[in-house]
Amino acid sequence: SVRVRFAPSPTGMFHVGGARSALFNWAVAKHSGGTFVLRIEDTDAARNKPEWVDGILSAMAALGMHADDPAFEGPYFQSANVTLHTEAAATLFAQGDAYYCDCTRDDVAARTGNAQTGYDGFCRERGLAFEPGRALRFRTPDDGETRVVDLIRGNPTFPNAAIEDFVIARGDGSPVFLLANVVDDVDERITHVIRGEEHLPNTPKQQLLWEALGQTPPTWAHLPVIVNEKRQKLSKRRDKVALEDYLADGILPDAMVNYLMLLGWAPGNDEEILPFETLVERFDIADVNSSSAFFDVKKLTAFNGEYIRALSPEAFAAAVEPWLRAPHAPWTAEQFDAAAFAAVAPLAQTRVATLSEITNNVDFLFLDVPVDDEASWAKGMKEPGPAVLADARAALAALEPWEAEPLKDTVTAVGERHGLKLGKAQAPVRVAVTGRTVGLPLFESLQVLGRERTLTRIDAALA
Ligand code: GLU
Repeated sequence: SVRVRFAPSPTGMFHVGGARSALFNWAVAKHSGGTFVLRIEDTDAARNKPEWVDGILSAMAALGMHADDPAFEGPYFQSANVTLHTEAAATLFAQGDAYYCDCTRDDVAARTGNAQTGYDGFCRERGLAFEPGRALRFRTPDDGETRVVDLIRGNPTFPNAAIEDFVIARGDGSPVFLLANVVDDVDERITHVIRGEEHLPNTPKQQLLWEALGQTPPTWAHLPVIVNEKRQKLSKRRDKVALEDYLADGILPDAMVNYLMLLGWAPGNDEEILPFETLVERFDIADVNSSSAFFDVKKLTAFNGEYIRALSPEAFAAAVEPWLRAPHAPWTAEQFDAAAFAAVAPLAQTRVATLSEITNNVDFLFLDVPVDDEASWAKGMKEPGPAVLADARAALAALEPWEAEPLKDTVTAVGERHGLKLGKAQAPVRVAVTGRTVGLPLFESLQVLGRERTLTRIDAALA
């Protein structure tokens, strides 16, 4: 049966590209009733940190993925398998598929006259034994070609003459990544290696290793590179790439999962927003496109707005809860008023595209004085703003009942006296009461805020 794996190296924040690779593997496993193996490739001790491992595991959990190998609950750690990697290196040497080499880079460059060229095979027939400082090189075939079965890239072939005798164990005897990765895949009985396109150059070498170890190579699938709006490969220096940052901004995990599934793949019927079970049902790795996939943050945000609107009121309340308190919110626990929030929550739910936007939309309810933003005040109070506001103040003081409809009628009538449409007439009221020029529907907001606080704020703005 199908066994796929996600094999991240814990060398940094968990990246949206890694999340996409994980998800595509997860979707293959779920679609086929196969197994999803999680392997932490932690052999590069100098670059690994335990907190990156935790970050990977918690981000995967947030997206609904976990290791589900019945033979081994939880992730495999590559570092636990070093003995097996070393044994494989010894086997390849014993079989004559690998040889020791004491050439330095400079030696090779001096012989070939080119520092860029691959290894020239100088030690191939020297029959060196292991000594510290001698690397173990794999003996690649001189002719023929290596054809890899890639479900996305149409089975590329690589002439063997162009594949150098590459190192599989360093001078201290430690196996390198290329070998460890293959030995682990063999050990975990992986049938499909689905990973980023940046690994494609490794693939013919790794397939040769599978064959030399007496194994049937896996089926490969190299996922298209993810690019930003300038068509540059997504990079942590240039772009926001950490999954954690998107979740911290209030992107819902389900929206993220749905969006990531579309990076290189489409579910068909011109549909995009679909439940994960449907995406899995339709998913076929062979339908993934080989051209680069644009990570469109605007589209992700729009998706997220749709996901937010689709939540039940209870689920929405639960999802926004962290944004209603410190450190996200500028008000204190004492200032927060759950009933007032509940009254505006349905309005907010239809308007925010990310959960983090909730804070600015409702702060007027909880802060003693509205936020003070000069540009918003200038815009909201633009002439004839003060006069309109003064008239509105007088009309609102006596209004009965204090409800959205009559509030709207009142401000509409005040606006008419000044020759203003409602949109213009309500601007000074909005900025006086909320400190902002945009926000939730104003009259519902005023109803919830109450007459007293509304009038106090208008008076403060007119003073
Ligand atoms: N540890 C490798 C990486 O994070 C994965 C290689 C693979 O998937 O084969 O890029």
